[in-house]
Amino acid sequence: MIRIGQGIDVHAFEEARPLVLGGVRIANRGGLGGHSDADAVLHAITDALLGAVAAGDIGSYFPSEDPRWKGAESRLFLEEALRIVGAGGWEISNLDVTVIAQKPKLAPHRDPMRSAIASMLNLGVEQVSIKATTTDHLGFTGRQEGIAALAVVLLVRD
Ligand code: MG
Repeated sequence: MIRIGQGIDVHAFEEARPLVLGGVRIANRGGLGGHSDADAVLHAITDALLGAVAAGDIGSYFPSEDPRWKGAESRLFLEEALRIVGAGGWEISNLDVTVIAQKPKLAPHRDPMRSAIASMLNLGVEQVSIKATTTDHLGFTGRQEGIAALAVVLLVRD
């Protein structure tokens, strides 16, 4: 049996915060605003995992008005989604992420992000794809107002 899930997340830039994507601290400034650490990549993957098993979305488990998640590391959200998926007997076959950002350049951070995500999900790095693109200066990402992340995940079960 197979299941597929997709997730998307967007956060606006907040200059004074560190930039954390895919569990990797990319810069000490020029980060994203949000209740948690605003890791749009991990949020998109979390929603993809939950979506694949029709278990709601990240907000149904970790509402942004809950003070417990203020400044929280998003790996907590991902680990809970992994637990839910695993409880149903599902294993991750692969996941594919696209980050849409005009800045900063993400190519040097792609492999560290893959490694960090693979480690959080107990996967091999070859099961984790991270791609980065710009929108050629169009739209909110092109105007450098924020970053978007899209994730697709495939689950398998005997
Ligand atoms: Mg988010």
